[in-house]
Amino acid sequence: MVEDNKKNAERCHCPHCPTYSKCMAEDDEMLYCGRAKSGCDVEPRGCICPSGCPVYKENGLNSAYYCTNGKA
Ligand code: SF4
Ligand code: SF4
Repeated sequence: MVEDNKKNAERCHCPHCPTYSKCMAEDDEMLYCGRAKSGCDVEPRGCICPSGCPVYKENGLNSAYYCTNGKA
């Protein structure tokens, strides 16, 4: 289980992801793997979770699109 804390939120790469939309930014969403899926309509444009996010690595995650699939 990914901890929902400030350290993890600050290191989340979601805000740099091509899928991350204006709606998601306005709602200050991130850390989907440790929180909940997005409340926005998400149009998938690629997921960068597996490409270098330290939270992903530390927690041994193996999936993607937590913004639409829900937390890990
Ligand atoms: S694994 Fe994905 S959702 Fe979780 S912190 Fe990293 S970029 Fe954010
Ligand atoms: S969970 Fe994946 S697809 Fe969704 S915003 Fe984060 S990096 Fe992008």
